[in-house]
Amino acid sequence: MSAANLLSGDSGTVSEENSNWIVSTGQAWKLYVAIAGFAGSLLCFTVAFFSLGAGGGRFLGLTACGIFLAGATFVWLTAVLRCPHCLAKLVWTMVVSRPHTSWLIDLAALDRCPACGRQLTK
Ligand SMILES: [Zn+2]
Repeated sequence: MSAANLLSGDSGTVSEENSNWIVSTGQAWKLYVAIAGFAGSLLCFTVAFFSLGAGGGRFLGLTACGIFLAGATFVWLTAVLRCPHCLAKLVWTMVVSRPHTSWLIDLAALDRCPACGRQLTK
């Protein structure tokens, strides 16, 4: 709900301290799919870079492919990674409300939904 709410650290009796909300709400596979998507786009950029040495004929196509894949993966992750209570799009919520350097870390460390304030971990 608020930053103070998130920072208060009153997670109290959470038994599984190692697992974050993404794991405990069964959404970890979405992260793995997203990582695969980003890895694929990185591969496109890498191949595009090396294709420059071989004449560069495919550079634009591969770069466009990588950008498209990364964009599509991000949009998909934003759409599917949600609060199980209010279905808030938590990736998007964090991207727009946190500094770009820390939103990913803050997202993984959430214990309450920033939209409805309910406990994300059980
Ligand atoms: Zn919520």
